[in-house]
Amino acid sequence: MSESPPPRRPREVATGCPYCGTGCGLIAQVTGGRVTAVRGDPEHPVNRGATCRKPLRLPEALGAPDRALEPLWREALDARWRARSWRPTVAELARRLRETVARDGPDAIALYLSGQLLTEDYYAANKLAKGFLGTNNVDSNSRLCMSSAVAGYAGAFGIDGPPPSYADLDVTDHVLILGSNTSACHPIVWSRIRRRQAEGAHVTVIDPRRTPTAAMADLHLPVRPGADLPLLSAMLTVLDEEGLLDPVFLERHTSGAAETLAAASCWPPERAAEVTGVPAELIVRAARAFGGARRAMTLWSMGANQSTVGTLKNRALINLCLATGNIGRPGTGPLSLTGQPNAMGGREAGGLAHLLPGYRSVTDPDHRAEMRRLWDIPSGAPGISPAPGLAATELAGALEDGRVKVVWIVATNPVVSQPDAARFAAALRRAELVIVQDAYHPTETGALAHVILPAGQWAEKEGTQTNSERRVSLMRRAVRPPGQALPDWEIFARVGRALGHSAQFAWRSAADVHAEYVAATDGRPCDQSGLSHEILRREGSRQWGGERLYRSRRFPTEDGRARLGPTPHAEPADTPSEEFPLVLTTGRVAHQWHTMTRTGRARDLLAAEPEPFVEVAAADAARFGIGDGERVLVRSRWGRTIVRARVSEHVREGVAFAPFHWGALHLPPDTGALNGVVGHALDPTSRQAELKATAVRLERVVAATAGAGPRRRLLVVGGGMAGLATVEALLEHGEEFQVTIIGAEPARPYNRIQLSQVLGRAAGED
Ligand code: SF4
Repeated sequence: MSESPPPRRPREVATGCPYCGTGCGLIAQVTGGRVTAVRGDPEHPVNRGATCRKPLRLPEALGAPDRALEPLWREALDARWRARSWRPTVAELARRLRETVARDGPDAIALYLSGQLLTEDYYAANKLAKGFLGTNNVDSNSRLCMSSAVAGYAGAFGIDGPPPSYADLDVTDHVLILGSNTSACHPIVWSRIRRRQAEGAHVTVIDPRRTPTAAMADLHLPVRPGADLPLLSAMLTVLDEEGLLDPVFLERHTSGAAETLAAASCWPPERAAEVTGVPAELIVRAARAFGGARRAMTLWSMGANQSTVGTLKNRALINLCLATGNIGRPGTGPLSLTGQPNAMGGREAGGLAHLLPGYRSVTDPDHRAEMRRLWDIPSGAPGISPAPGLAATELAGALEDGRVKVVWIVATNPVVSQPDAARFAAALRRAELVIVQDAYHPTETGALAHVILPAGQWAEKEGTQTNSERRVSLMRRAVRPPGQALPDWEIFARVGRALGHSAQFAWRSAADVHAEYVAATDGRPCDQSGLSHEILRREGSRQWGGERLYRSRRFPTEDGRARLGPTPHAEPADTPSEEFPLVLTTGRVAHQWHTMTRTGRARDLLAAEPEPFVEVAAADAARFGIGDGERVLVRSRWGRTIVRARVSEHVREGVAFAPFHWGALHLPPDTGALNGVVGHALDPTSRQAELKATAVRLERVVAATAGAGPRRRLLVVGGGMAGLATVEALLEHGEEFQVTIIGAEPARPYNRIQLSQVLGRAAGED
């Protein structure tokens, strides 16, 4: 009798987490060429083996049946997909890009990147677009996430970059958190805060909702949405009046204190209480707790950034630290919590429309000349444009008026994540060429593409990412990408070579790209020169700038002083009215991630929060005649969606909260993405959108939707290829059916994108 072979021992690969900006270390367990399990890396300094639930389910996401496996083309949105190999795909892409530049100019091309990309991917995309296509229309979904923090840091310190570290959380005496449900969105950071709280540190949370984070704080200030600035100004005023400022630090190391304090003094706590809805005594208590602490930090996230005054909120939070000398010392400083895993690396590599690698700016002639030399741009070529490009939040307008004709969207799903999402989708339909580079197909955005470029994702490609505390970690490849999928940097490099720049895009590996990138940071504030993949693999992660910036108390401004700045209040662009009396604020749930492209594949993550919802106070539910658990229509000036009502004591009267994750792939046919309800007002400095304050009303769904939606129903039995292709053809020719498939899939109604996912490669791609 032959003995069965011994079971194969799993191989373990140390890497990082591809979800939030906390930057935890992970161990991927590989068996038989597949990632079969994931756990926290006990050696990684950020998490010491702990994780939240999301990364543990990555194996399901990697092995999902709808991975993009080969390049796909179609001539029009109603044409069938055709598979192509890489060589003709890249040649055709290069031809179309060249043709567009010659006919309409380089600014007719836009790249929309993602904080999910690795730094090498960002660098390669920037070099291709800004250096060799001549367009600065290279922006990122970080525009929706952290661009107000970028502008806030640059305004106060002269450069971007969060000054403190997580290590400061371990020794601080006070944590002031604004607009961040840290326990759900950055759970490992939160666990460090909780440990320090247990040792006696005071935690104050400013948030319109009583989030789990707020509930565990020592003090919760339930501010009215959009009224953070009066509250922070009132706190600064109390600090000033009660002698809790650091006059020596202000005198020696800052500018702008006098004007800032004078402006803040317009907001005594009593006046701020009227505007913020927070009792004056709570504001005073919060200020005293902050000012009385020997070491204090401010932390924030989207609640500060996603606002028409997002940059000013960042400045106000930094003002509090500067005014009290809480910077450059252990346990102090302003720390923005980045939403995405590599939002920081993207900024360092120049991944916003006004940036170049190494925290350089396209508007600075010296910076352009440096990058022109480093990139070896030929003397006859136009080179880098001096004008900042379009922000991602401005792309819809540019598509509508025809300024942009070719859009290349990489590792992001703006049809779900953009404000006024239906407008964005409609604008995308006007583009001559939409290229979607992603690990999955279809996504809601891929459904509007002409070209799908299959990309490798987490554990399938090598590269670096930088977390919220400037820590650079190596994301190691553990398995091969499926099918013909390629690392993102390699796709950009192939197109660069096809455009005739063989020498400039000759990289053979991600380590080569990294070597060129870190050389470009030499002498810059985010200097990573000398770092390499090999060093990171051997020695582990490393923080650029060391554990803490500004220990010397010299700042990279012209006069070496940090700048305080006045932060005048302005109401949100969309204020409540009789027609739309509630303020909708959006956010996340603990077990989903962004538009669910990966977390939507894991059954237990879905089970934790199976459907979208809106939280409202009991009084508002009664006002709209809505019961707990009923489906309700949320309507604004921009659009509508249908979600389940949750009557909750966690939101104050007049406020509604809803998570934004669900797109058409995960929604019933009669509804749409939450961001279709949200308006597109922008912060004038950061060009970040106001996702946190939209005036809405609620309607009972029965009354609101009677007669709406397709009246004809199509029942597909069995789901054979020919039958399914017929269904798709009917839908593509404008017929509106509610389709139910019986057989291969659960019998339930499908919307168009779900249908295209179900049909998959068989019917859709010939
Ligand atoms: Fe990943 Fe963030 Fe969870 Fe850490 S806290 S495991 S980085 S999602």
